[in-house]
Amino acid sequence: MNATSKPGLPGQPHIAYQADHLMLEGLRLSDLARAHGTPLFVYSKAAMLWALAAYQRGFAGRQAQICYAMKANSSLAVLQVFADAGCGFDIVSGGELARVLAAGADPAKVIFSGVGKTRGEMKQALQVGIGCFNVESEAELDVLSQVATGLGLTAPVSLRVNPNVDPKTHPYISTGLKGNKFGIAHEDALRAYRHASSLPGLKVVGIDCHIGSQITEATPYLDAMDRVLDLVTDIEAAGIPIHHIEFGGGLGIDYNGDTPPEADALWAQLLDKLDARGYGQRQLMIEPGRSLVGNAGVCLTEVLYLKPGEQKNFCIVDAAMNDLPRPAMYQAFHQIVPLSPRTGEAVVYDVVGPVCESGDWIGRDRQLLVQAGDTLAVLSAGAYCMSMASNYNTRGRAAEILVDGTQAYLIRQRESAFDTFALEQLV
Ligand SMILES: *Cc1c(COP(=O)(O)O)cnc(C)c1O
Repeated sequence: MNATSKPGLPGQPHIAYQADHLMLEGLRLSDLARAHGTPLFVYSKAAMLWALAAYQRGFAGRQAQICYAMKANSSLAVLQVFADAGCGFDIVSGGELARVLAAGADPAKVIFSGVGKTRGEMKQALQVGIGCFNVESEAELDVLSQVATGLGLTAPVSLRVNPNVDPKTHPYISTGLKGNKFGIAHEDALRAYRHASSLPGLKVVGIDCHIGSQITEATPYLDAMDRVLDLVTDIEAAGIPIHHIEFGGGLGIDYNGDTPPEADALWAQLLDKLDARGYGQRQLMIEPGRSLVGNAGVCLTEVLYLKPGEQKNFCIVDAAMNDLPRPAMYQAFHQIVPLSPRTGEAVVYDVVGPVCESGDWIGRDRQLLVQAGDTLAVLSAGAYCMSMASNYNTRGRAAEILVDGTQAYLIRQRESAFDTFALEQLV
């Protein structure tokens, strides 16, 4: 496949039907389901690298660091793919730091975001030599200064500013508006930078923003960039040099006919603006998550029962909201397709899981031609699925497979019931 063509299902370049079998790269998904059971997450390494390549093309010839926002999918082997490809990482907890180091990441390429870093997490990050703290409040600056001076170390800091632009996405995943808990308000940013540069143990290195997630238009990015560059001008005029400028993540993917800009096309527009304003040669950083992994993964699930009803027909599958939390959490849409299509007339079903909650649905009003025992693929399941999975209803989390060509690697074993209560104790 060449760099930009997209064979396969819409939005799913590495997934396609071949002779009535749904394939991911060179493997039949039905073979993987049979060998490993369901629910099963399967990821395409080529799809991840293909998504990354669009960013790499976009930044060709620039000083740019791509930091994969690992909360989208933090499985070790997925992190390893991005570490091997030269990526840095955006983390939001000490747990993610331990995880990404276990996957072989270079701590100097890791940036630590999040509104509620604890002293313990700051210490852990300073001791491994983290690349940057993205600080979200003036109070956090004070604490970080204390922790760093206590250790005799210097913390590299960037302030996450809130550009107050509307990313036009779901309210739960919009983060750059005034009412959000994230970032430092635009009008307070200069004061916060002065404060940061006055504190011992801190070194101001950059500025950052992140306006939301599943963004499908370029305009909010362009607006945010203008706001951030205005601040860079003011902060540097106050005598505080800004070494890197970081623009967050948030680029959307095609879940259901969504048409987000391609990463390279988006960055061509953004770089034009940066160049026009004289900032094109700065060190640039970005933190994409979903757009690198979302359409690289599927969740395979078996149809347990068909339950016809007066108002609704239910297709009850063995994956549930604990495996695929996005529909219950954000009313999100995932395409659901059969691994081996049947011929005949489709029926409209709500596809639901076994969990005892009415919110436990995977897809509503879907046309499907299925029988009990069939296996379905829930598409676009590479981001914010496994990383948000839980053990609710004492359901062990699913197994995960990474496919590379015709090679399948089991990258996470299925959790047993015992695993789910192994840390508990009777009194
Ligand atoms: C979640 C997050 C990202 C990644 O967002 P995506 O929508 O997955 O690209 C980037 N930066 C920060 C600070 C985040 O919290």
